[in-house]
Amino acid sequence: MDACYLCKGILSEKQTTYMVDLDGQVIIIKNVPSLVCTQCGDTTYSTDVVKQLERIVKQLRKEATELSIVNYAKVIAA
Ligand SMILES: [Zn+2]
Repeated sequence: MDACYLCKGILSEKQTTYMVDLDGQVIIIKNVPSLVCTQCGDTTYSTDVVKQLERIVKQLRKEATELSIVNYAKVIAA
């Protein structure tokens, strides 16, 4: 198990909500597999997850809706 790069605390696998605000366009991705530090609460993602998040955000950005809420598992499967 990796340690937190900020405080060397223990990372625990959790599903979290990723949210990004792109000049007023808000994208919310639910149930993202992530690693959360049990000590300081810092959230990190694996390289694979980061790639997927970038892909999802890029995709949703084109749609230009003010607010998009998606489920990570569902968009990955699509
Ligand atoms: Zn930490």
